[in-house]
Amino acid sequence: MIEYRNLRIALLGAGSVGAQVAALLLEHGEELSERVGAGLELVGVAVRDPEAPRTAEIPKDLITTDAESLILGADIVVELMGGLDPARRYLELALNSGADVVTANKALLATHGPELFEIAEQVGAQLYYEAAVGGAIPIIRPLRDSLAGDRVHRILGIVNGTTNYILDRMDASGATFEEALAEAQRLGFAEADPTADVEGYDAAQKAAILASLAFHTTVPLEAVHREGIVSVTAEQVAAARASGFVVKLLAVCERLVDPATGVEGVSARVHPALVPVGHPLAAVHGANNAVFLEAEAAGSLMFYGAGAGGVPTASAVLGDVVSAARRHVIGGPGVAESTHADLPILPISSVRTRYRIALEVDDKPGVLAAIANLFSEHGVSVETVQQEARPDGASPTATLVIGTHEATESALASTVAALGSSPSVSAVTSVLRVEGL
Ligand code: NAP
Repeated sequence: MIEYRNLRIALLGAGSVGAQVAALLLEHGEELSERVGAGLELVGVAVRDPEAPRTAEIPKDLITTDAESLILGADIVVELMGGLDPARRYLELALNSGADVVTANKALLATHGPELFEIAEQVGAQLYYEAAVGGAIPIIRPLRDSLAGDRVHRILGIVNGTTNYILDRMDASGATFEEALAEAQRLGFAEADPTADVEGYDAAQKAAILASLAFHTTVPLEAVHREGIVSVTAEQVAAARASGFVVKLLAVCERLVDPATGVEGVSARVHPALVPVGHPLAAVHGANNAVFLEAEAAGSLMFYGAGAGGVPTASAVLGDVVSAARRHVIGGPGVAESTHADLPILPISSVRTRYRIALEVDDKPGVLAAIANLFSEHGVSVETVQQEARPDGASPTATLVIGTHEATESALASTVAALGSSPSVSAVTSVLRVEGL
């Protein structure tokens, strides 16, 4: 058997994920080396503060603040620092010096992915990022490799554990958003500044990565429609449950035809949505993640598991390290990122989905017919109407919950605007999209 030289691994960052990657590499290095067919040597760990406490023990002589020298002597660079800079500069340096790169940095990939993939292709290096979406859940490799021969139509993803935890608590306990967020923060499921999670920024970055990969098209972060969960109310969650739905923050990536122009394109959006209780995504509880995918030949697939956490995420990172190391042993240029389809990115206005709209209306004869007319005038077909009974019977208004057939976002938006100015409607209290029916 041919003996290969040790492959030199540089680790950038030793925080929640990086420290666990270092520990697992040191602990299982020998076994991983046998899987690869070459020694795997952790040659250094770059950090900002060498004295900072670590969640796993890392030998002092491996710790350095000189990331650049470490990168220049490595075969594989593992970036677990996060943020855009200097991560981007370090990855460019690594790729240009011929190293393969492994990263979990979704913010960087969603923002500067195309430039980094281009450098990787030019120099014949490889960029791996399994941990950037869904933590431990294998989803990047299935999309890139296993489904490379299929055509993905649609992805529905619960890709942010913090928001899933909050919505799940609201559903299970009747808590308000603020109460559930405070609990998530107390238990370590949400950060002190939860903006990136609750406003949907983190999920939007992952949606951009998934859509680009699934549709062989660069989907920039700015093209992802984003709504967070801060305005989801306890009343909406309770009403959803009573009608057989749960509220989830979904990343929806789909291939669709613009109904106005007939152009085929792709769209990516992140927003709270109603999911029927019988759908597999409704059973994703706590801080777990899941990606539900529909492909032409494969049909429906679901990938489920721990979407974050130092140890689970380290598993995905190490899988990439083993892939990168095998490529070094076997040789060859590796798999290039494919954006050959280059489909147009369609705006949210061309998306077609179903909606449930709650209204406060005058409790008078003829109002229901007037409202049904208003929907039909704007091209939105009503599927169900529920009127909620008033216990006291004394109120001059009634609550109507209207479920629609599929309609475009633009038709729905004009319907909601018309409802808002109708004399029979005192308030439009909730508008939620329905997915997974
Ligand atoms: P973290 O706990 O904040 O750790 C960041 C590490 O990077 C720290 O060790 C820090 O050094 C080091 N660092 C930061 N800036 C540096 C610089 N300029 N030079 C050298 N070292 C620097 O982050 P994390 O939670 O492990 O996340 C790492 C990456 O994984 C992020 O891209 C994140 O989005 C991604 N990710 C994380 C999870 C998760 O569950 N945490 C899941 C999936 C993906 P000091 O320790 O000295 O400050």
